[in-house]
Amino acid sequence: MEPNVKIDLLIPGLPAKTDHFLFGICSLLLIRTAGRTILFDTGPFRIRPFLIKALEDLALSPKDIDTVFLTHLHWDHVENLDLFPDAEVLTPRSEFEYAAAPRPNDWGTPPYVREILRDMKVTLLPEQEQEIFPGVRTLLLPGHSIGLQGLVIDTANERAVLASDALWSARDATRAIPDVAFFDPAKAQTSLDKALAAGDVFYPGHDRPFRFTNGIVQYLTQYRYELSFPFQPLGQSFSLGISTERKTSAESQR
Ligand SMILES: [Zn+2]
Repeated sequence: MEPNVKIDLLIPGLPAKTDHFLFGICSLLLIRTAGRTILFDTGPFRIRPFLIKALEDLALSPKDIDTVFLTHLHWDHVENLDLFPDAEVLTPRSEFEYAAAPRPNDWGTPPYVREILRDMKVTLLPEQEQEIFPGVRTLLLPGHSIGLQGLVIDTANERAVLASDALWSARDATRAIPDVAFFDPAKAQTSLDKALAAGDVFYPGHDRPFRFTNGIVQYLTQYRYELSFPFQPLGQSFSLGISTERKTSAESQR
């Protein structure tokens, strides 16, 4: 019997950079397969209320998550792990071992990340691809970090590649160059090529899911963001609304 696996986008990753801080909004996905409700990465603490709301919208609460898959141990992927104290946590062994003593200038892996994992039910994944649940296989994608692992999932009609930061945004696909490859650039290039060859639909670490056919990106969802800066104590806030949706003619005339 074909496994029936469903993927839902809880929080779309944001491909944003500034010269003042790291944005760190990564894609959070929900995978449902026979007997398992799996959260794919947990995100930074600052998105916690939005994660809870996204679960509520699917009639779920954090208690319903029985499995957490941590692709790698960068701060923006792990900070909400304590919401799931009873879940089985799957993460690569090489990430776990490296996190005991990260490189001094590794701004992704916080020195306290092993504390976040303490007292959790951690299952360490070997450096070997395997089917961890029916229809859900691991994909070794090192380079962005020491031992990042993604997933390849066969859904009802397509093969999805959950690549996390090995595929940072859709631009990595069109340029065929990894944008954020700071741990080992050569391995990151091999991993990007491998991820792009592994399926039909792609879930990047910091972008919306997309289909990639003949070099053309077709996004599956849209963005709408509001940023507000109350810089003037007596005046108005500076506001910036960003939308990737096609403007209606009424909007574009304003
Ligand atoms: Zn990362």
